[in-house]
Amino acid sequence: MTTKPKSKTKPLGPIPAGYAAIDGELAIGGHKASNLVEAAGRTPLFVYSKDRLDTRASELRKALPGSIGINYAVKANPHPQIIAHMSDLVDGFDIASSGELAMLKKAAIDPARVSFAGPGKRDDELEAAIAAGVTLNCESEGEAQRSLAIGQRTGKTPRIAIRVNPDFELKGSGMKMGGGAKPFGVDAIRVPALAKMIIAEGAHWRGLHIFTGSQTLSADAIIEAQANVLDLAQSLADEIGHALPKLNMGGGFGIPYFPGDEQLNLAAVGDALHELAEARQHSLLETELCVELGRYLVGEAGVYLCQVIDRKVSHEQTYLVTDGGLHHQLAASGNFGTVVRRNYPVAIASRFDATPSAPVNVVGCLCTPLDRLADMAELPDADVGDLVAVFCAGAYGASASPLNFLGHGPAAEMIV
Ligand SMILES: *Cc1c(COP(=O)(O)O)cnc(C)c1O
Repeated sequence: MTTKPKSKTKPLGPIPAGYAAIDGELAIGGHKASNLVEAAGRTPLFVYSKDRLDTRASELRKALPGSIGINYAVKANPHPQIIAHMSDLVDGFDIASSGELAMLKKAAIDPARVSFAGPGKRDDELEAAIAAGVTLNCESEGEAQRSLAIGQRTGKTPRIAIRVNPDFELKGSGMKMGGGAKPFGVDAIRVPALAKMIIAEGAHWRGLHIFTGSQTLSADAIIEAQANVLDLAQSLADEIGHALPKLNMGGGFGIPYFPGDEQLNLAAVGDALHELAEARQHSLLETELCVELGRYLVGEAGVYLCQVIDRKVSHEQTYLVTDGGLHHQLAASGNFGTVVRRNYPVAIASRFDATPSAPVNVVGCLCTPLDRLADMAELPDADVGDLVAVFCAGAYGASASPLNFLGHGPAAEMIV
C-alpha cells in the first residue's frame, strides 16, 4: 500500500499521565479497553476514571493553600456519577443553569455549597436558586433587582454575590471572559454602588466572583491574574465599606491538548497563592477564598473510545472511519472554539503499545468533512474492529457536542 511521505504527518497531542498498556491494550482505571467496551455493551463510550479524578484533586490539595477552597464548574462534565464523585473531592459547585441545579439536587449536594453564575438567568431559575439557598453570582444590576424582587415576593432572603467584569484578563487564555465590553459580570467601576444597594436591601451579601479566563497553561499568566484579582477585590471591598465574606478568584487552569503543549506548573501557581493569601490585608483578611475549575479537575480523567468500522484509501491517504465523531467530541474535531485544527491525543486503544507505522486519518461517521478525530497521525497499523481512544475527553465532551446532529444518538458513559 502506498502512503504519503513522512513530511505530511501531523503530530498528536500528549497522552495524559496515568494511562498504560495491559496485554498490549490501553487500560483505564486498571481495566482493558476491550473489557470496558464489553461491559458497556457498545461503542462509542466515554470512560471516566475515578483514580484520575482522585489523583488530580489530591495534586491540587497538595499544591494550593488549605485556606483556598476548590469549586467544580459543573458544565465541564455534568454526568451524575461525576457529580457524585466530585462531591467528596471539592468544596463547592458552580452551576450555570437551573438544569444543573436540578442535577445537583438529585445528587443531594448541599445548596450552601453551590453558586450560580451565567448571563440570562430567567426569573424561574432565580426563584429556584433562591428557594434552594444557592448563592447567585449576579451578572447585572437588572438581575440583582429581579433577584431582590423575587426574594420579597417569596419571603426568602436571596444570597447574592456580584460577578465582576474586571478590566484585565487572563493572558494566553483559550477563552477570554474578562476585560473590555462583555456579557459577563458587572463592570468593576459600577460594582461598589450595586453592592451597597444589595446590602441595603437586606440580601445576604456573599461577596465577589472574578473570573478572568479559561484554558491557560502558563503559570505566570495565572499568577498575574490572581494577584490582579486580589488587588481588585481589595479595592472594591474598601469602596463598598464591608468585609468580603467570600471571593471566588476564578480559575483558568489549563490541560495540554495539542502537540507542544506542556503541563501547567501547578507547584508554581500554588506557591504564589500561598504568598498572595498570606499577604492579604484588612477587608480581605476574613474572606473565604476559592478557585473554580472545570477541565483541570475532570478533563484528563476521561477517554472516548470508538471502533473502526471501515478502513479505506483515498488519493493515497488511509482513512480509519470510526463509529464516533464530532456529535460526541466536537472539541477534538477542532470545531469548539479553535481557529486552526490540531490533533488531540489519540491512540489505537487495542494496540496501545504497538509501534506507529504509516500516517492515517481518523474520522467520525458523520457526513461532513468537519468530522475529523486525527489528521495524518502516526498510529499503529489498525483495521476494522480496532478501538480508537481520544484522550482529554472528560470535559466538554458528551455534554458539549451536537448530539442530535445526524441522528446517531448518544455515546455510552461509564465511571470506573
Ligand atoms: C466555564 C467556566 C469555568 C470552568 O472553565 P474551565 O476552563 O473548564 O476550568 C469556570 N468558571 C466560569 C465562570 C465558567 O464560565
